[in-house]
Amino acid sequence: MTIYWERCSVCGRYEAVRQCTLYKDVLVDIHCCILCVKRSVCPAPAWRIALPAKPVTQARAGVSVEERKRLIDELTSLLEKPGKKNA
Ligand SMILES: [Zn+2]
Repeated sequence: MTIYWERCSVCGRYEAVRQCTLYKDVLVDIHCCILCVKRSVCPAPAWRIALPAKPVTQARAGVSVEERKRLIDELTSLLEKPGKKNA
């Protein structure tokens, strides 16, 4: 896929453009390609957002009620005694 640095045929801005897949005479920048109404029918949009594949991280196990109470107590005690430090 060739990337040109030219004027977008759609909005006229000087941007990095690619040749439109549907209309071969059209050079389209990333913004116009993404906003294109034909995108849903476009077999291969010139600009595709490729997000780096990230493994889904396992959701952390929820904090138990006791643990939550303990943390709240701990934090509240810190608020009540701002000067003191319990190491
Ligand atoms: Zn454009």
